[in-house]
Amino acid sequence: MDIINSIKKARWESIPCVCGKEVMDSFPIKECLSCKFNQAWLSVPQKDFTVNDNIIDKNGKVTKKQTKTVKEITLHRGDRYQDVIGFSWSWT
Ligand SMILES: [Zn+2]
Repeated sequence: MDIINSIKKARWESIPCVCGKEVMDSFPIKECLSCKFNQAWLSVPQKDFTVNDNIIDKNGKVTKKQTKTVKEITLHRGDRYQDVIGFSWSWT
């Protein structure tokens, strides 16, 4: 998997976790930017994955089932913290 727009150390990684030991004092109940951005980062696929790319006719009926393998994704980051706000891919 190639990850475009990868950053060695994003700004958010310098933010310390402020979670406590209790559930009520921890993410996601407590607003913790460190945990929030880390969770987003962990949702980024690190390995190639397949997606459905079925062929459909004009009536929306599947005429051919097929999948494609995604080997490259582009990360989208927030301006302020450089946190991952999503990713996209395109066929090559
Ligand atoms: Zn935390």
